[in-house]
Amino acid sequence: MVHDGLQLEINFDPDKNRFRASLDHGEFTVLFECQMPGDDTAPSAAGERLKEFEYAVLGIDDFPAGLALTGRLTAANSLNPAAVAAALSTGNRDRHLIFLSGREATLEQLAETAQLCLANGFANLVAVTGNTYPGETVKENRNRVFSDSVHILELLRPREKQPFFPGGVINPFKYTPETAFPEYFKLIKKFRQGAAFAVAQFGWDMLKLQELRWYLAYRGYHFPTVARLLLLSPELLEKIRRGDLPGVRLSANFQAVLESELKYSRNQFEAAQWRRLELQAAGCRLLGYSGIQIAGLNSPDKIKIAAQRVRAAFGEFIDFRDWAQEYAEYRVKAGMAPYPYQFYLFEDLFSRVHPEPVPVMTAVPPPELSNPEKYSYLFRRFMFPRAHKQMPGTHYFAKKLFASCQECSHCRLPQTFYVCPELCPKGLANGPCGGVNADGSCEHTDLECIYNKMMRLAEWRNQVHRLEEELIPPVERHPR
Ligand code: SF4
Repeated sequence: MVHDGLQLEINFDPDKNRFRASLDHGEFTVLFECQMPGDDTAPSAAGERLKEFEYAVLGIDDFPAGLALTGRLTAANSLNPAAVAAALSTGNRDRHLIFLSGREATLEQLAETAQLCLANGFANLVAVTGNTYPGETVKENRNRVFSDSVHILELLRPREKQPFFPGGVINPFKYTPETAFPEYFKLIKKFRQGAAFAVAQFGWDMLKLQELRWYLAYRGYHFPTVARLLLLSPELLEKIRRGDLPGVRLSANFQAVLESELKYSRNQFEAAQWRRLELQAAGCRLLGYSGIQIAGLNSPDKIKIAAQRVRAAFGEFIDFRDWAQEYAEYRVKAGMAPYPYQFYLFEDLFSRVHPEPVPVMTAVPPPELSNPEKYSYLFRRFMFPRAHKQMPGTHYFAKKLFASCQECSHCRLPQTFYVCPELCPKGLANGPCGGVNADGSCEHTDLECIYNKMMRLAEWRNQVHRLEEELIPPVERHPR
């Protein structure tokens, strides 16, 4: 059977999943990320290239290794990773990860793709909502389907005869309380929806990676985490500077360091990036991560070099204090927080590996909420307290006037602090995407991200818990 380029083979041993086993047994796992090429590439050519990458990975025998197949980093039109994955050897599919994107895919289509992945031996699927890209208009994105990763995870929840091993993503590199907490709350929703592990977005701030580990331990969520690391090239650096990599940001200090590394020669720049990768890989292992996913490797040879460098770093750093000292020297040169946003959830990060004794949480200042915002919230609450239980279209004109109603198939205003989720270009109702800017604005509209606003309202109402507890059902998007 052939579906959308996926060859159904049904040769799957449901009890065999080496990726899950290595996480369960605490074996540090290294995944090598393969970006799918654009859809102008023939799937057969993409498959051949993937086989070469897999061959390089299968040569690694001293730590668990696999591939992570993702969509294209900086553009929308890439081949479907699930389709290209069919080129991989049938006996090793349980080592690999496939990212399932909700961009321009309905939940029904995603359910079908997930079933086909499973039938082909790919049980390790990571749910992502998908990105918007520079050059796309807000109107275009509002007319696009973005299936929320929280809802995709519901499809992947392990059931009888469906031994999925699903993962969820998080962007921990947020530097205000209003942007950091909603990311964590959404991750917890993902665990509650069945995610068995988390993959962190690219970033270079190891304090933030420790913050993620500590926060999960603090909350009692002892789930494995995998850190996504990016080997920078001059071309990727330029793309990040232009804002072409959704959700990936560099502080001004770190950019200055990278520019100084670039000043002399490409070789010197590359040497500095390999060293940075070594430090991060060893740090993740010492901080309790279950693995890393390395991106930016554009050839099988680079995979082999990365494996050697990572192996050497594991041997070089076996003590957290030695590693922290080396990293601290490096961090002094490059402050990672994007000034003036410098919030970390804990005050004593890096003082030790594990959050025992219980870490000291940073005091969060009261939310900034103007009187007009407060009156507007109270007015909407007075007007539409039961909107989620009413027929769609009820009080449409009043909702349009006072809450920018977009006439969804199911109103969610009372569940979202009376902020319409359709004001988000992706229509996300269960938490933010990873692309919120450092100042809390939306990466796509430059207006305040709706979750920044909800967080401020939730703090004021003393109802922050609702942001992680309320699971809001999907609605159909209406093209406008
Ligand atoms: S409003 Fe927030 S969640 Fe929606 S796309 Fe913008 S940054 Fe992402």
